[in-house]
Amino acid sequence: GSTIGILGGGQLGRMIAAAAAQLGYRTHVLAPDRESVAAQTASSLTRADYHNTVVLADFAAQCDVVTYEFENIDAGPVRWLAERVPVHPSPRSLQVAQDRVAEKRFVEEVGGRPARWAAVATRAELDDALATIGTPAVLKTTRFGYDGKGQARIATSLDADAAWEAVGGPAVLEAFVEFTHEFSIVLVRAGDGTITSYPPPWNEHRDGILHRSTLPAPAPIAGQWTEAAALTGRIAEALGHVGVLTCEYFAGADGPVFNEMAPRVHNSGHWTIEGAATSQFENHVRAICGLPLGDTKVVATRVEMENLIGEEWQRWPELVGQPDAHLHLYGKRETRDGRKMGHVTRLVR
Ligand code: ATP
Ligand code: MG
Ligand code: MG
Repeated sequence: GSTIGILGGGQLGRMIAAAAAQLGYRTHVLAPDRESVAAQTASSLTRADYHNTVVLADFAAQCDVVTYEFENIDAGPVRWLAERVPVHPSPRSLQVAQDRVAEKRFVEEVGGRPARWAAVATRAELDDALATIGTPAVLKTTRFGYDGKGQARIATSLDADAAWEAVGGPAVLEAFVEFTHEFSIVLVRAGDGTITSYPPPWNEHRDGILHRSTLPAPAPIAGQWTEAAALTGRIAEALGHVGVLTCEYFAGADGPVFNEMAPRVHNSGHWTIEGAATSQFENHVRAICGLPLGDTKVVATRVEMENLIGEEWQRWPELVGQPDAHLHLYGKRETRDGRKMGHVTRLVR
């Protein structure tokens, strides 16, 4: 059996490792975190910093292929690894997806439509950007944001100082999109260029964090599915992406508005574990290991995935007693506000 290396030790790495084990692969996780929940499903784990070349060389020597579960890792070590062992998705996917400016430019080049945006490096440039983009708007840190962290809403230009204080630069200013629904395309591309994607869930957020994903999606999303899936496919092809790629969209009045991409398995795809013929995690493993991709069809009439954020995981005794509820707890020792502690998926057959 071959060994899959996973950079990052969070719940996504944990679920990739579980899918890999089912297909007979060993997994080796490299993560700097004190607590790595992926350790509970991975075959082995190295707890160390990515920037140490002795650590990286040892990791490369142990793995036949390397993947990552988090886009907010330094691209330098990933490039270093890619010179020694196959890394999927490639460092190029990582570099584009971890930088909001590079990401929006890239998507525009392949015909996608993000909200009006401007790069902002200084407080003075924020004023210039507000003059062209207008309000309401959202200021987002260019790199290292997730779960709505590193963002500030700007209702009027009076909020500019506070937003700059909270986010600073480098950042992007985006026009606020008056959407009715959000959705995502979870796509998987194999090394031979074969592409398949899942039906889009309706994603509802609370405080910038995914709250619930529901399928089938309501009409406004269903009507934009084809266009969004085609755009996501063009992005994957242009990147030469291998593995799962997720793009988030707003259902706008004139078609899908691109929000952001993640070069990895995604929270809005957790429903696929029980709700699809092949899970996003298994399909990611299949893609990066050169196996044929699995069927992405939905196996229920209705699927609903709800995140358990912060103290919500305490509901587990009630949830585990519900016959239609598939409970997932990530095994995190420390509960924090806004932290993803688990999720529950319900299927209506
Ligand atoms: P993730 O954890 O998905 O990576 P993130 O921190 O990168 O999140 P975004 O996806 O950029 O954050 O934004 C989080 C949420 O905030 C979006 O899903 C959406 O609900 C809202 N949002 C972000 N940008 C805009 C916008 N331009 N207009 C309206 N709402 C927005
Ligand atoms: Mg993001
Ligand atoms: Mg997002």
